[in-house]
Amino acid sequence: MGRRRRKYRKPQLLRPMRRLPTVFECPHCGARALSVEIRKKERNERGEVKAVIRCGNCGLYAEMWVPEIFQPVDVYSRFLDAYLEGRIEVEFRKEGGGERELSIEELAAGSEEGEEIGESGEGSEGEAWRW
Ligand SMILES: [Zn+2]
Repeated sequence: MGRRRRKYRKPQLLRPMRRLPTVFECPHCGARALSVEIRKKERNERGEVKAVIRCGNCGLYAEMWVPEIFQPVDVYSRFLDAYLEGRIEVEFRKEGGGERELSIEELAAGSEEGEEIGESGEGSEGEAWRW
């Protein structure tokens, strides 16, 4: 009984989408310094996550709730619409030049990428009833 086991390695899929840009052009000052941060730990009752939009140049700051699947670029386009239509509250936070962007929490969270693959392979077993 020669069961040959072939070592077949699936080619590792490189995901070029992994690092999408998170810095965009600021609609207020025009500088490419608008960063979008998605805080997956902060959720509202609708299951949306909080996105924080911040400009490193003029200090523009806004928060909005977005669906969890949103990428920063999606947040940005939604923010842009809301901003241009005046539907979103923005603040200007000029803090004394502190450039501490990453907290320890964020660094820790960055190493683990949760990805759930839903496998729906539940075979329904036909039960035969015999009398
Ligand atoms: Zn700006």
